[in-house]
Amino acid sequence: MRVARFYAPGDIRLEDIDEPTPGPAEVKIRVRACSTCGTDVKISRFGHHHIDPPRVMGHEIAGEVVEVGADVPGWTAGDRVQVIAAIPCGECSFCAAGQQNICPNQVSMGYHFDGGFAEFMIVPVNVLNVDGLNRIPDGLSFEEASVAEPLACALNAQELVRINPGDDVVVVGSGPIGCLHVRLARSFGAGRVFLVELSRERLDMAAALVSPDAAICSADTDPIATIRELTDGRGVDVAITAAASGAAQEQALQMLARGGRISFFGGLPKDKPTITLDSNLVHYSELTIVGANGSSPDHNKRALQLIAEGKVPVKDLITHRLPLDQVLDGIGIVSRGEAIKVTILP
Ligand SMILES: [Zn+2]
Ligand SMILES: [Zn+2]
Repeated sequence: MRVARFYAPGDIRLEDIDEPTPGPAEVKIRVRACSTCGTDVKISRFGHHHIDPPRVMGHEIAGEVVEVGADVPGWTAGDRVQVIAAIPCGECSFCAAGQQNICPNQVSMGYHFDGGFAEFMIVPVNVLNVDGLNRIPDGLSFEEASVAEPLACALNAQELVRINPGDDVVVVGSGPIGCLHVRLARSFGAGRVFLVELSRERLDMAAALVSPDAAICSADTDPIATIRELTDGRGVDVAITAAASGAAQEQALQMLARGGRISFFGGLPKDKPTITLDSNLVHYSELTIVGANGSSPDHNKRALQLIAEGKVPVKDLITHRLPLDQVLDGIGIVSRGEAIKVTILP
């Protein structure tokens, strides 16, 4: 079978290897769609300390069951499935408390296990043990189902930051995650949703798809002043930073209303993880700052449902569909910000 394997930074190879055979506690799937994201770009450039090469990349996975291990109940060949990316242990105190997404023993598809940039893939027992193999609802395509994983991460963030009906929300960063955040905030009943982005091209591309109440290019205008104007000086109730930028986090904090809440959704570069924070702003305005790390199996299930019910449409966010042989082109397109979502159809 054909796979795309990571060997080292800058060295991802398309190879033909033997099809994997599932063990008694595993399920084998025919991968039908595996979406790409900024994480794939990061891995391709820098690798990751959890990746022991060679490793099949790809973690936004949807496919069809082709073989079921003898000890695995509930699945049959032909079942259409979505696979979680971050796999919690299911046994630690965080998992027991329902905080699987911050499980310290977490392992991941495409890191510890071979991922979805392949014709076939094994769903490991770790995924099955935490109910991380999800049935794709009827009527939902594989490519749409593959976007459930990033949407699950957005869902985790928006639950933590709490979006109340009528809240004004600003999303900073208009990549695929920013677009998902805009749509998810609307599904939570947000009042107005504003979108801020540095690149005019990326902003226009995203705004044409997700129609924010205002699309603000922070290269052209002061985004803090613009948000203040749009909200009669009040500021927004919720800010979500979907960009790997400390400046974006600093700016977004200044856009908040009193009592406002901010999700630092996008992580910062490892060599520059600090920002300058006006602590008195947090103190006097009673701001809440929350983090966001991945998603739980339950978030994945609910994300699939949100897509299936049409509450968060994703089909139009897939701007590029490529065969497995063009996965490197796909990662290049993502890295240059020329797409919203690039989905590989192996
Ligand atoms: Zn991803
Ligand atoms: Zn755990």
